[in-house]
Amino acid sequence: MDVVSSLPLVFNAPARGKPPLHFADLDEAGRIAAAEKLGLPKFRANQLAKQYFARLNADATEMTDLPAAIREEVGEALFPTLMTPIRHVATDSGTTRKTLWRLHDGTLLESVLMRYPERNTLCISSQAGCGMACPFCATGQGGLDRNLSTAEIVDQVRAAARALRDGDLGEPGRLSNIVFMGMGEPLANYKRVVDAVRKITSPEPNGFGISARSVTVSTVGLAPAIRRLADEGIPVTLAVSLHTPDDELRDTLVPVNNRWPVAEVLEAARYYADTTGRRVSIEYALIRDVNDQPWRADLLGAKLRKALGQMVHVNLIPLNPTPGSQWDASPKDVEREFVRRVQEQGVSCTVRDTRGQEIAAACGQLAAEEG
Ligand code: SAH
Repeated sequence: MDVVSSLPLVFNAPARGKPPLHFADLDEAGRIAAAEKLGLPKFRANQLAKQYFARLNADATEMTDLPAAIREEVGEALFPTLMTPIRHVATDSGTTRKTLWRLHDGTLLESVLMRYPERNTLCISSQAGCGMACPFCATGQGGLDRNLSTAEIVDQVRAAARALRDGDLGEPGRLSNIVFMGMGEPLANYKRVVDAVRKITSPEPNGFGISARSVTVSTVGLAPAIRRLADEGIPVTLAVSLHTPDDELRDTLVPVNNRWPVAEVLEAARYYADTTGRRVSIEYALIRDVNDQPWRADLLGAKLRKALGQMVHVNLIPLNPTPGSQWDASPKDVEREFVRRVQEQGVSCTVRDTRGQEIAAACGQLAAEEG
């Protein structure tokens, strides 16, 4: 089933300024065809791929292994400017950095880079805005601007990998993890997201060579798309934003639940775990007096154990209050009791750290309103 056309109309992206075609949109055959169209021999396509995916270079004028005479033409045809950084904001002693990007049509988007002792994680956006309308999420409040192109997704990764390599965030490092937890619902931009995932995980020179296990695709729970993703043969980590185990509350917290309720989402998650052999993550933003009751922890644990057995891990995210929202994070003792009860059901459960809070770069805070 075509997942996007099966969504209610309101979730489909309006066609705002289509981004220019970019080298990172093309597959290997497309890159060779593009090179040939420019009158270049086949091997140039491979050279360009090395420049982009291995050297993290998207500026043809810097591609010194190309004849100087053709650099400009190659740049114009294959490396148009996709996104311009408007600003970087750092926090957590410089280990978290949010970047605001302007796309070619003025659309704004954000990505967040987080340094940890043992890994470097980039949180990327798959859409500008989001059509899922979850009431506790800042992105959800603004609605959907448009889908990002494959290259607009991939280039967030290139830019961050380059910044890390060049020591823009302190000690030079390597980008090791990608989470699709920025703006947008990745599975509502299915084809481009999967295409981007392939380019993130393919070995050089066809991609950045980041291990699929280190890539997490987070979804509100578009059940048919979860199944389709399972069948792609790329064992990325699936994260499902459940937020409550009961349909009554989930219908309001994650409105798409009206279409694919908890049971269907968990069945799809089970299919994902069975097909890929990967443990599924369950995201649960803990909201004071909304979804943090002991009985909900018990129900969550019981439902997950039944649906997924040992193939599940719960990430509790202390709610990051968004502007204008009356909701808040749960008190720490309530949070601890929630964890304890979920674990008591035999389900693994931990609390997610809250990087980037004070620069509006934490989960659900990305909104890109500023110019
Ligand atoms: N659309 C995808 C990716 C979105 S963001 C999804 O929903 O999974 C990644 C996670 O941040 C999701 O689990 C989302 O529910 C959560 N989130 C959104 N707003 C939040 C907030 N204000 N506080 C804490 N987590 C939030």
